Amino acid sequence: MAGVLRMQRVAVLGATGSIGTSALDVIARHPQQLCASVLAAGSQVDALLALCRTHAPAHAVIADAAFYPALRDGLQSAGLHTQAHTGDAALQALVASAACDTVVAAIVGAAGLPSTLAAARAGKRLLLANKESLVLAGDLLMQAARTHGAVIVPIDSEHNAIFQCLADGNPAARITLTASGGPFRGWTREHLAAVTPAQAVAHPKWSMGPKISVDSASLMNKGLEVIEAHHLFAVAADQIRVLVHPQSLVHSLVDFVDGSTLAQLGLPDMRTALAVGLGWPQRIASGVAPLDLLAQGGRLEFELPDVDAFPCLALAYAAMTAGGTAPAVLNAANEEAVSAFLQGRLGFLGIPDTVAATLDAMPAQPADTIETLLATDARARTYARQYIARVGGYA
Ligand code: NAD
Ligand code: MG
Repeated sequence: MAGVLRMQRVAVLGATGSIGTSALDVIARHPQQLCASVLAAGSQVDALLALCRTHAPAHAVIADAAFYPALRDGLQSAGLHTQAHTGDAALQALVASAACDTVVAAIVGAAGLPSTLAAARAGKRLLLANKESLVLAGDLLMQAARTHGAVIVPIDSEHNAIFQCLADGNPAARITLTASGGPFRGWTREHLAAVTPAQAVAHPKWSMGPKISVDSASLMNKGLEVIEAHHLFAVAADQIRVLVHPQSLVHSLVDFVDGSTLAQLGLPDMRTALAVGLGWPQRIASGVAPLDLLAQGGRLEFELPDVDAFPCLALAYAAMTAGGTAPAVLNAANEEAVSAFLQGRLGFLGIPDTVAATLDAMPAQPADTIETLLATDARARTYARQYIARVGGYA
């Protein structure tokens, strides 16, 4: 009908998580333009059913097949027309289908790669929060997006900031990723040895899922983000710098050849980045209040990260420079180590130790197929698990 904009149908993968919830909050603010047409989660079937009652999507997917009957029956007894699905293949098919125009890739970890890649191959608008898929298979994912015309809008706050700064199409001479420094900024290695999971997930500025919260505490998150920036913006290692900025108001900065530096600022709330992705190139309301610098304390501070106390950042730079399979090894070992740490099977300093040992044991090989990368991911996980079983209690 003339004059009526077509509704943008959005698939939210990782709908029950921190990013997924924020995405649905923004979508619900624009009922004339946006609707959640596909919702997917790992195993939290009750939370997924609650979201289905609120958003009435056409499809709901639960990754863990054991929860499929509960999803199907729950949808039926709620009187919803939402179709229930389970499994990776169903998710990939839905992501690639006409059921959605836009995909919010917000599954945590390498588990998000197949659906993210499917969205890129189907030429969807891809709101990419799942940074692990870029670390694991950045070249392939970017190539798939280029070949199939998928527009990637990064959702990671730093990369979303850079995306906004680069909107006029000029290349960046250098990128500065800001880091909050996490809950342990200023701590020594001795103090870090006794850190508990509860301390590590209590981030001072952002409310996030447990895995990325631990990554933020170890600075591995910033390491993954350096690799992410390399792929998204085609910048080399020596063009990417990290500065700790405890206020978390400047989300990143870009230097240009003429001496200009552009930055994006805002309150630490992921709904801003998600609104940028959902509305781009238009600005749409996100529910986030405007930034009042004085109310936020009136100070913006920057310092260098402490790479001795937090070796994960240097490990990520090294893996990126080594290239090939090395970033996939880094990511897999880190996922295993973080999971062991959260379960109380590994000390906090055991995280960088596990990653370093796995990288040492698996020197970088060329990696130009997804099969090679997935096989590397599996081998690195096996190695890391064995390492953790050997040293975990003492590391
Ligand atoms: P989270 O733990 O809060 O949520 C993860 C979601 O993924 C849940 O909905 C879970 O059910 C789902 N999931 C897990 N395994 C799955 C599987 N195999 N199949 C389908 N769904 C599965 O995590 P989060 O904090 O929302 O982070 C999600 C992603 O976004 C991560 O890659 C993270 O690095 C990135 N990210 C998050 C933030 C943030 O503020 N939370 C910021 C930047 C980037
Ligand atoms: Mg980030």
